[in-house]
Amino acid sequence: MKVAVYPGSFDPITYGHLDIIERGTKVFDRLIVAVAKNASKSPLFSIEERLEMICAVTRDMPAVEVDAFDMLSVNYVRQRKTDVILRGIRTVTDFEYEFQMALANRTLAPDIETVFIMARQEFSFIHAGMIKEIVSCGGDVAAFVPQVVEKALRKKLFKSEG
Ligand code: ADP
Repeated sequence: MKVAVYPGSFDPITYGHLDIIERGTKVFDRLIVAVAKNASKSPLFSIEERLEMICAVTRDMPAVEVDAFDMLSVNYVRQRKTDVILRGIRTVTDFEYEFQMALANRTLAPDIETVFIMARQEFSFIHAGMIKEIVSCGGDVAAFVPQVVEKALRKKLFKSEG
């Protein structure tokens, strides 16, 4: 039974993340989507809100578990008694950051392997920051995020709606 941990901020989850999750479940028997509590990025959504949205959009994926963590990714992976970190690659701009992270993690935990999956081309430009900006400017993000996320974004950014 091969278990991988897919760590990230997921603030909020997008079709890009979902594509990686779907692909990940084809490669691994079980996939733990691990939401980082790290407040250093001052997230828009609380940890509970992010977890709830991910649970809602992965409800039909029995191989997916959703959890929160508040420690080094490699320590969390160890705590879950597995040895694979899954990360997504969008474009070359992601590469340098992911490369650094993977090598740092390998130095910290040589027994843990980072595996990369590329998102579908049409999702490769999606990032959470862009989505927040489009919504706050009144744009339509239905092509980028599931409906439940779109609704939550509108509610969060325009307090009266939702
Ligand atoms: P982090 O703050 O750890 O980068 P993110 O939620 O931004 O967390 O991303 C988690 C992982 O998902 C990263 O590996 C990131 O490259 C990947 N990812 C995010 N959006 C996409 C996308 N549209 N396509 C492919 N991978 C993505």
